[in-house]
Amino acid sequence: MPQQLNLVFGWWADGITWPEMPGTADAYLGETVVGPAGLLDVLETALGTGAPPQSHACRIAEWQAKMRAADDGARVWSQSYKIDPWGTARLVLGWRDELVEAGWTPDVVGSPRLKDIAAIENAAPMLSPGVSDRLQALIDAIKGRSIPLHAIRLIDARNTLPTGWRLLLDTLEARGVRIEAVPQIADNASGDLKVLRTPGKTNALSGDGSVFVLFANTEIVAAECLASWLAAAQDNQETIVVAGRPTGLLDSFLADRGLPRIGDSDRSPFRGAIQVLSLAFATSWLPFDPRPLIDLLLLPRPPFPRRIAREFARTLSERPGQGHSGWNEAWKFAAHWLEDHRDADDNDDAASRLQEWRDWIEPTLFPAEPGMPSDAAARICARVQQWAYKLDRGNADPVLTKVAQLSGELAQAISAIGLAELPRHLLERMIDQVVMEGMENPIAAAEASEWTAVAHPGAVWGPARRLIWWGFEQPEALPKAGPWDEAERAILKSAGCPIDDIDVALERHSISWRRAIQAPQQELILVRTRGSDNGVHPVWHELSAKFDNASVNVIGSAEDILEGRNPRVAFRLLARTAVAIEALPPKRRCWHMPNGVIKPEATSPSAIEDLLSCPLRWTLSRLLRIRRGALQGLPREEQLLGNLAHEIARAVFVTGDAPERDDARRLAEQLFGKLVSEIAAPLALPGYAALYEEARQQIPHAIGELAGQLRQSGLTIEGCEIELAKELPDGTLMNGRIDLLARDSQKRPVIFDLKWARREKLYRQKLESGEAVQLAAYSYLTTDVPSGAPAGYFLIRQSALLGSSDSPFAPQVRVQGPDMAATWQNVTAAWQSRMEAISAGRAVALGVPLGEGEQDVDQAPSLSLQPPCHYCEYHGLCGGSREEA
Ligand code: SF4
Repeated sequence: MPQQLNLVFGWWADGITWPEMPGTADAYLGETVVGPAGLLDVLETALGTGAPPQSHACRIAEWQAKMRAADDGARVWSQSYKIDPWGTARLVLGWRDELVEAGWTPDVVGSPRLKDIAAIENAAPMLSPGVSDRLQALIDAIKGRSIPLHAIRLIDARNTLPTGWRLLLDTLEARGVRIEAVPQIADNASGDLKVLRTPGKTNALSGDGSVFVLFANTEIVAAECLASWLAAAQDNQETIVVAGRPTGLLDSFLADRGLPRIGDSDRSPFRGAIQVLSLAFATSWLPFDPRPLIDLLLLPRPPFPRRIAREFARTLSERPGQGHSGWNEAWKFAAHWLEDHRDADDNDDAASRLQEWRDWIEPTLFPAEPGMPSDAAARICARVQQWAYKLDRGNADPVLTKVAQLSGELAQAISAIGLAELPRHLLERMIDQVVMEGMENPIAAAEASEWTAVAHPGAVWGPARRLIWWGFEQPEALPKAGPWDEAERAILKSAGCPIDDIDVALERHSISWRRAIQAPQQELILVRTRGSDNGVHPVWHELSAKFDNASVNVIGSAEDILEGRNPRVAFRLLARTAVAIEALPPKRRCWHMPNGVIKPEATSPSAIEDLLSCPLRWTLSRLLRIRRGALQGLPREEQLLGNLAHEIARAVFVTGDAPERDDARRLAEQLFGKLVSEIAAPLALPGYAALYEEARQQIPHAIGELAGQLRQSGLTIEGCEIELAKELPDGTLMNGRIDLLARDSQKRPVIFDLKWARREKLYRQKLESGEAVQLAAYSYLTTDVPSGAPAGYFLIRQSALLGSSDSPFAPQVRVQGPDMAATWQNVTAAWQSRMEAISAGRAVALGVPLGEGEQDVDQAPSLSLQPPCHYCEYHGLCGGSREEA
C-alpha cells in the first residue's frame, strides 16, 4: 500500500462509477473511488483489524439464539418472537445494527425497547460482527493510530451520510486526514438540456434532441427501441447507462444488434443448481410430497444421472408414491444402468453410488413439528455442498460455487441457532434467507463497451457527454424510518449516539438523482415503462412541469416509434424494415397429414374410446405421443382415487369365493393408509384433507358393497387386473386389462370395470345408448361366444353397480340398452371407419364445429362419442369447445 492514499468516497460507489477513476488517466497509484464496503476494506487492511465477514443468515441465527436466552416472556418483542422467531430476530437485529452504527452500547437504556435490545446484546452467545460493528471498531482503532490516508473527497454531501459514517469521517479528520467535497458538476449544456436544468419558469422545450423521454407500455418494447437507438450510430463514447432496472431484456436486443451486453441481470434464487439446496430440504418432510421430488428430478443438472432422473420422474408421474412395485423396478433399472455406465476412473463401488442416489431420491422424512434434527439438516447441507464441489471439479462454475457457498452458510446458521430440532417453518425461513438474494444470470456478464453502465444514479459523480437512464421509475428500495419515538431519540442523542431522521437518508437519495440528471452535457435520455406496477420516479415530479407545452420531439412512445418506417429519435435515424404480418392459423376441423399414417399394430380399449370420441386427440396422444411433462402429468385427484381403489380391490378380491362384505371392508380399511403413501401420496398432503377423509370412508365401504354384490349374484372371483389380448377384425392386436373378472355358476365370465366418478348418470347413459366402448371391448377379449360376456360398471364413490342388460345382477341394477355383443359390433364398425380416414391422412377434431355449409369429408360412423374437450389437454392447439357435455 502506498504511503498516503487519496480516496474518492461515495455511498453508491462500491461498484462501477462514472468517472471510474479520480482523474483523467486510466489509473493512479494510491488513488481510487470507493463506497462504504471499499472504505471499510481499505481502513481495516491499513489497521490490520479485518475479519472474515459472516453471512446475514448466520447473524440472524446467532441473534435468535441470544433472544431465546434473553426471553423472559415479558420483553417488548416476546409475543412476536413466540409467533415468528426468525422474522422477529431479523427485525430486531436490524434495529440493533442501526443503534450500533450510531455508536450505541448496551448500557444506554431508558426505554423498554432499548432495555430489551440491551438484554439480547448482553446474552450469550456472541454475535458475529456486522458492518456497524466493523465501523465502530474502526472508529475506536483510528483514535490511537496513524492512518496512511492523505485525503478523502466526498461524492455525497457529508451531512447526508449516516451518523456512524459521519463519525468515522470526523475521527479521520481529527487524525489529520483531509476531508473535502468533490466539485459539483458544472452545467455547460445548451438548448433543451440547459432549459430542463434551469430552475423556475423557462421557455418550453424545443425538441432539439438533447432531452428525450421514451415511454413504453412494456419493457420489451422499451428495450427494442433503446437497443435500436444505440445501434443507429457508432458514437456511444462518454455515455453513461444508469441501470434503474435489470437489463436482461435490453441485453437480448443489444446482442441481437451485435452490441455488447450491459450484464445487469436480475438476481434470482431459481438459477438452476441453486434450487438443489431448497429442493433437498423440500423432499425431506412428512408426509411425502412427490412434487418437489419431481422438481428435483427435472432439474437441468440433477444430482444424479439424467437417465436415472427420467426413470424416477416417469414412475412418479404414473404412481405418485414410493415403495410400490414400479418404484422397486426403477431402483432395479438404476442398478443395471450403473453397471452398464461405470467409468474406469469411478472409485466408488456400486453400492455406495446407489446409496448416494437413494439419499437424494428417498431421503429420511421428518415431521414438520417438532422438525428436523439439526445434525440431519447439517448433513443435507454437506451433501449439497459435496455434490456442487464434485460436479464443478475445480472449474469455478459460478452457479456451483454459489451453491457450495450457500450450503455452507446455511450449515453455519443451523449450528449458530443452537436448536436440537428445527421446525419446518423455521428451516424454510432460514433457507429463504440464505438463497433470497440468489445470483445474477451467470451467462449475462457485462461485455466491453463504449458506454459505462452504473447500477445506481448515485454512482455518477462527474460530467459526461450523454446519460441514458434505463428504468427511470419508482426505485424499488427507498429508506424507511426506524421504530424510534421522540423520547428514545432524545435518550440516544443525550448519550452521544443520535439516530438520524429519515430525512437524512431521503436527502442523500434525492441529491444523487439530481446529480445524475446534472451529469450529461449533450444528451439526456430517460426511459420509462408504464406497466401498472411501475410508479413515477420522484425526480419526474420535479421535472415534469418543464415538459408542459414541449415540442412533440421531446417525448416519444416506443410503440409509436417502432411502428414508423424510419423514425428519427434524439438525433438518430432508426433503421426499420417492414415485415408482413402473418395471421394466426384459423381453427380447423379436419387436419391433414399429407403422407397419411401407418396404422398402429396394437391398441387398447381406452385408445379405441379415444379414437371414437375424437380422432385428432387420438392422433396426437396415441400416434404422435405428444404428452404432458412429468410434473404436469401427475395424476389428478379423480385419477389418484381411482388408482387407489383399484389397488385395494386387487388385494381384497383374490381368486375364489368373494369375501364377506364386512371382511372385505375391514381389509380395505387396513390397506388404505399403506397404499396412499405408496401410490397416491398427494392425498396425504394438508390441502387434500377433506378428499382424503372422504376416500378413507368411501373406498372401504364400496369394496364391502362390491363383495356383497358378488356374493349375492353367486359369482366367484377369477382375479383382478387380468391382462388379455386378441386381434380385431382388421388384424390390429388389442391388449386390455380387466379390473375384476368373475365367473357365474356356469363358469361364464362377468366383467367389472371400477370407476371413481362424479356422476353416475354418465355411465348409465353409456350403457343405455350403446356407448360403453371399454366394457364391450373387455367382453370381446374375454370370450369367443357371439353373445359376448355380460359386464358392469362399479362406481366406487356412489357404491353403485350398473350392469349391462344381459348381466346376471338383480333387475334394479341392470340398465336397459344394447347388450355387449351389439355394442361391440358398432365399435368395430366405427373403428374401421375412423381408421380408414386416418390412414388416408385425415384426422377430424370432433369438438371444432363445422363452418357454415361445410361438410366432413368422411361420413361419421353410426357410433360417434361426445369429444372430451372440457378436459382435453390439446384444447390450446385445436380450439375445441370447452363446454362440458
Ligand atoms: S379439444 Fe376437443 S376437438 Fe380438440 S383434440 Fe381435444 S377433444 Fe378433440
